[in-house]
Amino acid sequence: MSYIIDGKAISAQIKEECRERVERLREKGVSVTLAVVLVGDDPASCVYVNNKKKACEFCGIESRTYELSADTTQQEVLNLVQTLNADESVNGILVQLPLPEHIDENEIIYAISPEKDVDGFHPYNVGALSIGLPGHVSCTPAGVIELLKRSNIEISGKHCVVVGRSNIVGKPMSMLLLRENGTVTVAHSKTADLKAVTSQADILVVAVGKPKFITEEYVKEGAVVIDVGIHRMDNKKLCGDVDFDRVEPKTKAITPVPGGVGVMTIAMLMHNCVTAAERKECYER
Ligand code: NDP
Repeated sequence: MSYIIDGKAISAQIKEECRERVERLREKGVSVTLAVVLVGDDPASCVYVNNKKKACEFCGIESRTYELSADTTQQEVLNLVQTLNADESVNGILVQLPLPEHIDENEIIYAISPEKDVDGFHPYNVGALSIGLPGHVSCTPAGVIELLKRSNIEISGKHCVVVGRSNIVGKPMSMLLLRENGTVTVAHSKTADLKAVTSQADILVVAVGKPKFITEEYVKEGAVVIDVGIHRMDNKKLCGDVDFDRVEPKTKAITPVPGGVGVMTIAMLMHNCVTAAERKECYER
């Protein structure tokens, strides 16, 4: 029987810890604030921003949402980011992606102060991760590491295969697994004989962006499988990049969709936001 990793319970635990950390900061007279910038009215983005607000409320983090119309210029978004960078009361800045096509996402991300970049997308934070300096780590891969650790799954010495090499999931995921002393292989769309590679994994992390792409032939008996993917099917149900029903019987442990990695992302955003406030408090003391 496979162990189903309970992302809901683990994310609830992390948010509870954040609530306690916010309370300890409040006792020292420090409040925690997250600024969320939303450009346009993409329905999915609106849902994400709302969920972030709710999580902030639970943790005692003040959330300020800046809703800008879809025709806002690049310069106007940059001006807002600069204002938030200079605002001492703001600990974290999150610009909800994707941005409208006329806006250069990279330029906006690069404008965010690295210490307030709670999404962990700024090149400073990406670089810090790769050379082992403290910084903010991209929330989804950081959430995967928490899922593994809090489920007592050993990473050190294990062969970890990551399918996907995107800047927000695959690449930081591979760096984090390496930091935990995993032996890491990164596979992507040009990988020759993907099955032969994934079948060697003790821990298989899938972030390929294709519904039910990974079936049992890709998985070694007794592997741990982490499914980052999230897709809405025609019947409105959610599924991942892994065909759960076919893969689960072969695994030692597996994450479900929903209730696996997805719920961890916001919990780690809360964690990054509180960490930013704690670092600032420590620095100013
Ligand atoms: P991207 O589309 O940016 O990256 C997909 C990666 O998969 C690429 O590196 C691509 O390779 C690789 N790939 C595509 N096809 C194949 C193939 N046939 N064989 C091997 N590799 C392949 O996606 P993201 O990283 O942004 O997201 C991945 C998944 O995770 C998506 O389902 C997304 O919805 C989900 N997601 C979930 C989050 C959450 O909170 N749970 C957060 C972020 C993402 P190449 O580089 O060569 O093109």
